[in-house]
Formats: sequence, structure tokens, C-alpha cells
Amino acid sequence: MFKLNLYLPLVIVTVLMAMFSVLSIIYIQESFIHKSKASISKQFTNNLNEKIKAEADTIGQYIDFIQNKDEITKLFLEQDKKELNNNIKKIYNSLNKNVDLTHMYFIKTDGTVLLRVHDYQRDKDLIDRITFKKAKETKSLFYGLEFGPKKNYTLRVVKPWIVDGNIIGYIELGKEVDKIISDISISLNSMIYIAVKKELYKDASEFVKEKLLKISQTKNYYIVYNTFSIPKEMQYILNDTLVHEDISYAGLEYFTSKEKLLDVSGEELGYFVFLTDVSLEHSVMYESIKTLSILLLLLTLGMIFGGYYLIKNREKKIHSLTSKLETQKRDLSLFNVKLQNLFNLQKNLIVITDGKKINLANQAMFDFFNLKNLDDFLINYKCICERFIVNDNFFHLEKIDDDKNWINEIKTLSGEQRIVAMLDSDLISYAFSVSINEFEEGSFIVSFTDISTTMIEHSILKRKASHDKLTGALNREFFDNNIRSILSDAKPKQLGFVLCDIDHFKEVNDTYGHNIGDIVLKEFTTVIHDSIRDTDYLIRWGGEEFIILMRVNSIYSLEKATEHIRVCIESYKFQEVDKITASFGITLYIQDEDILTTINRVDKGLYKVKNNGRNHVQTI
Ligand code: GH3
Ligand code: MG
Ligand code: MG
Repeated sequence: MFKLNLYLPLVIVTVLMAMFSVLSIIYIQESFIHKSKASISKQFTNNLNEKIKAEADTIGQYIDFIQNKDEITKLFLEQDKKELNNNIKKIYNSLNKNVDLTHMYFIKTDGTVLLRVHDYQRDKDLIDRITFKKAKETKSLFYGLEFGPKKNYTLRVVKPWIVDGNIIGYIELGKEVDKIISDISISLNSMIYIAVKKELYKDASEFVKEKLLKISQTKNYYIVYNTFSIPKEMQYILNDTLVHEDISYAGLEYFTSKEKLLDVSGEELGYFVFLTDVSLEHSVMYESIKTLSILLLLLTLGMIFGGYYLIKNREKKIHSLTSKLETQKRDLSLFNVKLQNLFNLQKNLIVITDGKKINLANQAMFDFFNLKNLDDFLINYKCICERFIVNDNFFHLEKIDDDKNWINEIKTLSGEQRIVAMLDSDLISYAFSVSINEFEEGSFIVSFTDISTTMIEHSILKRKASHDKLTGALNREFFDNNIRSILSDAKPKQLGFVLCDIDHFKEVNDTYGHNIGDIVLKEFTTVIHDSIRDTDYLIRWGGEEFIILMRVNSIYSLEKATEHIRVCIESYKFQEVDKITASFGITLYIQDEDILTTINRVDKGLYKVKNNGRNHVQTI
């Protein structure tokens, strides 16, 4: 199933990151634009100061020009207002028309106005503006932005009129500020308006106030000059704190900033407010953000779909792996069941083991130990090897080192030696031939085949082949097959040969019958067996004749041992016949001689005894 808990956070994070990127870029771009535009007001102040200085210089030259005219000097000294006006009118008009000069004063030394060329009717009033005072004080040209009596904010240039070293009066020329700032407005590509505190107009004439009301105003400011007319829709910008806000009008974007408006005395009159067109920057910004947004959108979609695809793919893989694993598990358990069934069909005891712990065992094994199942076995034992009987004839754990794995060890043995013995639940011991096949890395199928019967049959056959049926003594075939190895085994001692024959046995048969004769023969064998050592060989040589082979140090010890046998027979009380005796011929095997020679020698010895009264031992 598709996992939303993994995918959903991925999508949310991706979308948030994309949104965050766009917003950060807008913020960075916007603050960059603001920063660059905010410098406009500083530029403006610089431009304004430079412009005013340049204007003042120029205007100063106009004043010089006027003051240097003798006719005008003469008329001023004569205080002839009318003639002076007639004379200067032409110059004023020309300056007004060509360089936007709006004010021209002829001021007497005491500061009273002789002539206002721009307002002929008004005169005799006292000029007490700072520009005038400073010019008078410094006796040189002085200029600055200043309000006039009509509350015009004007660049005023005042220069003392010096004739023959004496100040005869002053000329003041003025230029309204809007004429100056409109130039700057163009060079800065900004719209500018000047907001002046209303309180400064409390003494203004009704005419002035009326004029002001025609322009815009805010609660505390009149908009006294503007390089553009503020449309109704933009009136809302005219609040008293307006700065650094973006406004839009008629499809254009403006950044606003303000700069203090000071008069020449440094008094704060209001503000210059700048509306800088940032439409281009904004459109470039929005254009780039649009492109970026599209890119981010594509990227986000890519990530969302890519993520979806990846997660889906991963889950598909996990799913297929899981189902594969399950199939394998099913197959494995099915295989195990099949294997168990197959093993259960076998008569052999079968286990799968690493040599330490049994992983699987068949029914035959459970039956042998009388167990219900493998767990039953594992309660008491881990390894089947713990059940191997310690017996020299078989493989068992005591034959190997503790740290060795029995499987590896038994594998090194030959087939006939790979035999173990185990007790079944009735404590009967069984012999098993062990076969081992590797099942998988480090795991083996070990099969135990019961060979107990085979072994018993084998030993019976073996016994039959080498033993005499009637007496149980070894037979002549055994003698023929083994005499060579018996001879070599005897070394470094010597092998003694004893030929023994029952005396007058024919009489036993004749007297008691053949069956009793058989019984006597058996008893006779037992008596000899009891009187010789386990390592000696008793061989029925034929009829009532036996050969005894014994390892001896000398002929003397052979004589002694034979004498002992003879006495045992002589003194034994036989069931039916009471007493019998036997005669003995003895000799030592001589190195490298033919066995027949040895036999002949003992035969000779026996012959001698038979001819000399019987029941004694004759050495040859
Ligand atoms: P001697 O003292 O000279 O040896 O006398 P003997 O009678 O023992 O000698 P002989 O060789 O003439 O007789 C041996 C007899 O042993 C003949 C045979 O009937 C008997 N005999 C041989 N084999 C068997 C046997 O397996 N069972 C019985 N009952 N008798 C046997
Ligand atoms: Mg005989
Ligand atoms: Mg005999």
C-alpha cells in the first residue's frame, strides 16, 4: 500500500520550501529596490544644494549686472521709485521670462523696500528675512531658501550695493523653488511635492490661503508645490508620516520617500516628498519571480511526482521482495515437510545436523528411542553422538578430542570403521553403519543403518568357518589359514606344538555307543580348554586327536604345560565313562621349517607314547 505518512511530509516540505524561496526573493529584491530608491532623497538634497548654489551664483551675476548700470544706480540713489521701475522693468521681464526669476527688490540701507518690481504697489515695508540680515551683516552676497510675506518658498539672493566703498542699498532677486525642483525632478526621474506645515500659514492672507486650498492638503500640511498634480485617487498618500511605502497609480508603481524641508535658518518647515517610479524595477522583479516561480513549480511538481514514483517504486520492490521471501519460506517449509515425509519412509535412522545439534530427525529415530518427536529428544540430548556407546569395537566420542566435530572425525575413517553402537529404549544395543552426505554448507544428512543382524550372522559364519561343530574347538581350516600369522605372532618366543590323542577311545564307542562318545569328546575339549591359557590355540586335528599351539620360552616350559594338561585329563571324572587318559607328542617349531615337518615330529612323539604304555608326554 502507498504510504502517505512518508509522502505527505515530503510534498508539504517541498511546497513550503518553494514558497519560502519565492517570498525570500521578493523580500530581497524589494528591499534592494527600496534601498536604491531611498538614496534618491539624499541625491535630491545634494542636487538641490548644488543647484541652489549655481542658481545663486548666476543670480549674483544678474545683480552685479544691474548694480553696475549707472542709470539705475543714479535712479536708486535718487529714490525715484517710478523711474527706477520703468528703467528696470524690461530687464525684470526678460529675467522672468528666460530664467524664471519671480522676485526683484530694491532695498534701502535700513531694510525698507523702495521698489518691488514684481509687485509695484507694495513698498516701504521692512525686510527682516534672514537672507537680508545676513547680507547686511556680512556685507556680501547671501542666499537661501526662505518664505516671503506671501508665504512663497523662494530662493532669495541678496547682495549689498556698494558704490565708492559705501553700501548704498541692496538688491534681492528671487526664484520660486518649484522652478528649481522641477529640473531636479526630471533628472532624478521622480515626482516631488513639498508639504509645508499649516501653522506657518496662520498669518497668510486670505488670498494665499485660498490659493493653497486649491492644491492638496493633509491634516497638518499644505502641499505648496508639486511637480505633478496629485490625483484624487492618490490623496490617501497625503498623511503626515508618509514614507517608504509603495503605492500604485494608473498602472505604475511608486516608491515614496521624504526629506526634511529646512529654511535658511535651519527651521523645519515640512517635507520634500518623492514619488519614484519603480514600475520598471517591479516589472523586472515580477517577471523574474514569475520565471522563478514557474521553475520552482516545475521543480516542485518534479519532486512531488518523482518522490511519488520513487516511493511507489520502492514499495513495489519491498512488496515483491516480501512476497518472494514468503514464497521461499513456504517452499522451504514445504520442502522440509517433503523431506521429513521422505525420511520417515526410510528404515534407517536419519538426522540432519551440523554435528552439534539435530535439526531434523525421522520417524525411525523416534521409534528407536521411543520418542514422540524431536523436541522430546532435545530435552535430554543435543547431539545424537551423545548416545554412542563407549566400546572399543565402535566409533564413539571418547575416541576423539573434545573440540573436534564427530562428523568430521568419522568421515576420515574407512567404511568398515564407520560403525557406532546405540542402546534402544529397551536397552538393547544395536550397531549402525554411519553414512554422511553434505546437505548444505555445514549441515549433513546422517544416516544410521542397523547392521546388528549382519554383524551377528557374520560372526556366526566366521565361527563356523574356523570352529569344529561338535567340540567348538578350532578346526583344521583355521589352522591352515592362520598358522603363518600365529607363527609370526609368537616371536620372540617359540611356538610349541602338542599333538594329543585319547587313549583307547574306540572302546568308549564300543562300550557306550557313538553318542556317548560324542559327549565324552565335548567334555574332553572343555577339560583341555580349562587347563590351557586364553592365548593358546586348541585345534581338533581329526577324530579324537587335537593339536595345541602355545607360545613358550623353551621346550621345558612346553613339557610342563603339557604335563599339566595330561594330569587334568587323567584326574577329571567324566560323566559316563568316569576316567580316560590321553597321550602327548610335543615339539618346538624350528625356524623356517615346513609345518608338515613339525607335525611329523609330534606325530612321531605320539606314536612313541602309544607304544610305551600311553598317558604320558613325549618330547621330540
Ligand atoms: P589308541 O589308544 O591306540 O589310540 O586306541 P583307540 O581306540 O583310541 O584308537 P583308534 O584310532 O583305533 O580308534 C579311534 C576311534 O575313535 C575310532 C572311531 O570310531 C572313534 N571316533 C573317531 N571320531 C569319532 C567321533 O567323532 N565320535 C565318536 N563317537 N567316535 C569317534
Ligand atoms: Mg586316534
Ligand atoms: Mg586314540
